[in-house]
Amino acid sequence: MDFAHSERTQALRDRLARFMRDEVAPAETAYRAELGGSGDWRVWRQPAVMEALKAKARDAGLWNLFLPEAEYGAGLSNVEYAPLAEIMGHSFIAPEAFNCNAPDTGNMEVLVRYGSQSQKDRWLKPLLAGEIRSAFCMTEPDVASSDATNMRATATIQGNQIVLDGRKWWSTGIGHPHCRFAIFMGLSDPQAPAHQRHSMVICPLDAPGVQIERMLAVFHDHDEPSGHGEVSFTDVHLPVDHVILGVGRGFEIAQGRLGPGRIHHCMRAIGAAERALSLLCARAATRTAFGKPLIELGGNADIVADLRMAIEQARLLTLKAAWLIDTHGVKAAMSEISQIKVIAPMVAQKAADAAMPIHGGAGVSDDFPLAALYAYARVLRLADGPDEVHRGVIAKLEIKAQKARSGA
Ligand SMILES: Cc1cc2nc3c(=O)[nH]c(=O)nc-3n(C[C@H](O)[C@H](O)[C@H](O)COP(=O)(O)OP(=O)(O)OC[C@H]3O[C@@H](n4cnc5c(N)ncnc54)[C@H](O)[C@@H]3O)c2cc1C
Repeated sequence: MDFAHSERTQALRDRLARFMRDEVAPAETAYRAELGGSGDWRVWRQPAVMEALKAKARDAGLWNLFLPEAEYGAGLSNVEYAPLAEIMGHSFIAPEAFNCNAPDTGNMEVLVRYGSQSQKDRWLKPLLAGEIRSAFCMTEPDVASSDATNMRATATIQGNQIVLDGRKWWSTGIGHPHCRFAIFMGLSDPQAPAHQRHSMVICPLDAPGVQIERMLAVFHDHDEPSGHGEVSFTDVHLPVDHVILGVGRGFEIAQGRLGPGRIHHCMRAIGAAERALSLLCARAATRTAFGKPLIELGGNADIVADLRMAIEQARLLTLKAAWLIDTHGVKAAMSEISQIKVIAPMVAQKAADAAMPIHGGAGVSDDFPLAALYAYARVLRLADGPDEVHRGVIAKLEIKAQKARSGA
């Protein structure tokens, strides 16, 4: 396995790190100040500082770095992009500044790989340009959505139209003032084999019958201006050319969508862990209690050492998963992808959890990003599929591999 940075990655890393230091970090406070703090998504506005950052990042060539297809993005492999995603993980506002934020990244990947020419022209182009935002509507309030075959909302063919009905929730990004469409996962043929029952359909948000019912709070925060919406779809009629790839091919698309996206999320989580650790170290070295710097008290030095080891392990495992996807495809990397999904957000959560008490009361305030980092990491342990589901996948694959080895 070769995880060495290519010349291109090294050059991009240097430029990205400079941009993060000179442009993104100083903009964080202004970004927060521009948010209204309301739970009502109808009054949310895109902070002007974000549009300014996007324009600068685009001019600097730090744009759509996640896309391996050179025609549309940077043309980097997963191993090459991973260190860049890690750098972006140091700031909550960075991914959008570089047009590398979820769920738009996953939706762009879907449209690049499976979209028709007219779908690309109408939806992919403005997404690539950062002019619009999008959402992904799979999870439903009425069914256990960690098992995606449970999805009950329907996408039914009627003549030359497809009709959407049902209720989705946790649709991230749907409250964004620039959000224009969602990719809707719906049941098309209940009699087909489990993984051929569902379709993915592009649904414009202004289609009659689409209604955002409310925004869900996450750890008491609405994630303005993107939000996570509960959305009803009532008798939504769309031309059949809004189906992606074909009726019943939703799971085929989902497989392709999730592998690289998980590398992005995990490397960003590792970046978040690094940020928490550096805040921890800075505070522990400069604050004194009982006559000593905090780092010399109790087991604090051990905490630093344990975090360093945990971060290094998580990064190497994530790079291994990225390398496997690049060289053997997503299917060959299934166990490693699930492993990093458990490990990387857990390390980020641990790092934030350890850094909070070192900061005392300030650690749980908004004066430092630690409480937000903690919530972000805990949420990741659910949003990309719960830890328990990933553990189930790892165990199943392990037992299968052990059986194959022993010939049982
Ligand atoms: C902040 C946030 C953003 C999200 N963004 C999106 C989005 O943009 N689009 C979208 O479609 N969805 C999104 N989701 C939804 C997310 O994908 C689901 O919440 C997740 O898949 C779990 O589904 P569920 O909530 O229905 O939990 P359930 O499926 O009801 O599971 C509940 C619990 O049951 C247990 N469990 C389930 N399966 C197993 C198993 N095999 N083994 C052991 N225990 C198990 C686990 O503890 C699990 O947490 C988001 C969620 C959050 C919190």
